[in-house]
Amino acid sequence: MNVSRLAMAIVGQQIDVLNPFDASLIDSVPDMPAAQVPQLLAQGRLGVQASAALPRYRRAQILEQAARLIEEDAGAFAALIIAEAGKTLQQARKEVKRCVNTLKLSAEEARRNGGEVVPFDAYEGSESRQGWFSREPLGLIVAITPYNDPLNLVAHKLGPAIAGGNAVILKPSELAPLSALKLVECLVAAGLPESVVTVATGGAELGKALVAAREVRMISFTGGFVTGEHIARGAGLKKLAMDLGGNAPVIVLEDCDLEATVESCVSGAFWAAGQNCIGTQRLLVQASIYPAFRERFVALSSRLVCGNPALAETDVGPMITEQAAKNAQAVVDEALVQGARLLCGHVREGACYAATVLEQVDHASRLWCNEVFAPVVVLEPFDEFDQAIALANAPDYSLHAGIFTNDLGKALSAAKRIEAGGVMINDSSDYRFDAMPFGGFKYGSLGREGVRFAYEEMTQPKVVCINNLR
Ligand code: NAD
Repeated sequence: MNVSRLAMAIVGQQIDVLNPFDASLIDSVPDMPAAQVPQLLAQGRLGVQASAALPRYRRAQILEQAARLIEEDAGAFAALIIAEAGKTLQQARKEVKRCVNTLKLSAEEARRNGGEVVPFDAYEGSESRQGWFSREPLGLIVAITPYNDPLNLVAHKLGPAIAGGNAVILKPSELAPLSALKLVECLVAAGLPESVVTVATGGAELGKALVAAREVRMISFTGGFVTGEHIARGAGLKKLAMDLGGNAPVIVLEDCDLEATVESCVSGAFWAAGQNCIGTQRLLVQASIYPAFRERFVALSSRLVCGNPALAETDVGPMITEQAAKNAQAVVDEALVQGARLLCGHVREGACYAATVLEQVDHASRLWCNEVFAPVVVLEPFDEFDQAIALANAPDYSLHAGIFTNDLGKALSAAKRIEAGGVMINDSSDYRFDAMPFGGFKYGSLGREGVRFAYEEMTQPKVVCINNLR
C-alpha cells in the first residue's frame, strides 16, 4: 500500500495512535513532514492518469468489491473504530454498515451519472445543433478528514472521487488514521491501482502544504471551523468543499409523543459521546411540557453508562483525548459560573466525560453559542413557536435541526423556517442517510456531501456540441 511504501522512504518521526480509553498504543504511522509533499504529488500525478483510464464499469466493480471486502471483515473494522476513536460496539458496527453503503452508492453514481443530453433546440437559434455534457474528473483531490467517523467520512470522500475518475491524496486525522488505511487496503485489494489513493499520514503542517499545492484541483475537507478558515485562506484558486461543525437545535412541542421524543433526544445528544457534527446540543422544549420532559430526559441520561467502549454495557465511550474531555469540562464550568444549573453528569475520569445536562444556560456563553462537540446538552423552555424558531436560527452556522410534533402544519412551518441543511421531523438532529445531500446553511458549509452530491462536486461537466451543417 502507498503508505507503507512511503513510510519506507521516511526515516524519522512516527505518530503513535493511542486508544482514547486507556491511552494504550494501538499502532504507529509515519508523521510525514511537509517536505514529503513533492513525493506525494508525484504519486498523485500517476494516480490522475491511472484513475482517468478506468472505464466507469471498472470503477463501479472496484467500489462494489471493496464494499464486499469490508462487509466480510466488518468485525475487524468495528474493533479498529472502537480502539482508535472510542466508539461503542453498536456505534462502530453502524459506522461500518454505513461505509459499505456509501461505497455501494458510489458504484451506482459511477454507472448512472455520466452526463445529460443538452436540448440545444429548446431556444431559437440552435436548432441545427445536438449534443450532451459528460461528467469528467477534476484530477487530483486532497481529502482531509476528522477523527470522529474515521471510516465512513473517509468513504464519503474516496467513494465519490473514485466514481468520478479522480485521484486522491487522503490526509486522515492523525488521531485516528487506521480505519482509513484499512479502507484503502480494501480498495487496492478490490483492484484499485495503488496510485489512485495516496495516504498521507501527518498533522496540520502536512495538511497545510497539501492545501497550498497548485496542481491540486479540489480540497474536500471535513473538520472544525478554525481549520476550515485556515484551509480557505491557504488554498488559493481551487475548488473547496467544507463540512464544518454544528450546534444543532431540536424543538419539542407539547403535542409530541413524550416517551419516544425523550428517547430519541437522549440518543441524539450522546451518540458517539457527543462527538458528532449533527449531535443535538440545544433542546428547545415548549414550557407546558418542560418539567415532564426534563424529568424523563435527566432520568434516562443519568442512567447512561460511560466508560470502556469495548464493553457491551457502555453507552457513552471516551472522548478522543483526555484534553478534549478537559476542554468540554471547562466550557461547562464556565457556563455554571455564568449562572447555568447542572441537572446531571459533569463527571470526568480520564477521557471519559459523563452525559451532562444543563438548563438556564446564558445565551452569551460559549456553551450556548459555540459547538461543544462533547456529551453535553442544554435544555431551554420556550412559550411561543416563533421564539423557538428564532432560538434555533440564532447561530451563524448550522447543519441539522429537529422538531417533534404531531401538528403537520407546525412541522412544515419549522421545516420551511429553520435555516439548516436538514430538518428532521419526529427525529433528533442526529439522523443522516448516506444518499441524501448533507451540509449546512450560512457560514461553515460549502457544497454538499452525500454520495451523488459529492460526486457532482468532484466532477466537471464537459459539453460536446455537434452542428449539423446540412
Ligand atoms: P480538525 O479541524 O481539528 O481536524 C480535521 C483535519 O484537519 C485533521 O486531519 C487535521 O490534521 C487537519 N488539519 C488541521 N489543521 C490543518 C491545516 N491548517 N491545514 C490542513 N489540514 C489541517 O477537526 P477534528 O477535531 O478532527 O474534528 C472535529 C470537527 O469536525 C468538529 O468541528 C465537527 O463538527 C467537524 N465535523 C464535521 C462533519 C460534517 O460533515 N459537517 C462531520 C464530522 C466532523
